[in-house]
Amino acid sequence: MGQSGLPESISRLINELAKLPGIGEKNATRLAFHIFRSPKTYSENLAQAIIDTKSKVILCTTCFNFASSSPCGICKDTERDNLLICVVEEPLDQLAIEKSREFRGKYHVLHGVISPIEGVGPEDLRIKELIARLEKEKVKEVIVATNPSVEGEVTALYLSKLIRPLGVEVSRIAHGIPMGGDIEYIDEITLARAIRDRKYI
Ligand SMILES: [Zn+2]
Repeated sequence: MGQSGLPESISRLINELAKLPGIGEKNATRLAFHIFRSPKTYSENLAQAIIDTKSKVILCTTCFNFASSSPCGICKDTERDNLLICVVEEPLDQLAIEKSREFRGKYHVLHGVISPIEGVGPEDLRIKELIARLEKEKVKEVIVATNPSVEGEVTALYLSKLIRPLGVEVSRIAHGIPMGGDIEYIDEITLARAIRDRKYI
């Protein structure tokens, strides 16, 4: 038995689940009990999926998106426009933009946004790598598709100041997207329009 009077394995599972963002002890307990009551195949599939995520998924060393090989399929795709790079916060944003079918260039995933409150500075994001890419590849325009939040705007302006001196145009997706909205959850039509109506910044 663990400290809480629960079998040790369950306490351990609760502890690990509680470390996930936004879960907390109460939800972790509920999830652990749910896993306990589910068929054995479910817990095996869940465990295997977690293990595979860490052992089989890598970050593409060019665009820093999730990939199973590097360079990823999009970076390798010769049909896509090399002159355009769309910068996004997270891999899910890249997926959402890809689904809008409006964009046929390449991507760059920052893995976050500049946020002084959360202690995230430019050095914590894949910004250095983006600049190195722009110095190496022949790029005409960078489209900044960070979320329309305060942090997203700050990041877009920061990138613009850094990139424009390199002779590369910087544009920001138009805001058919509401302020405070989340790219990941925006419908495809709104997102397609936002990319089409982007503004130079
Ligand atoms: Zn890639």
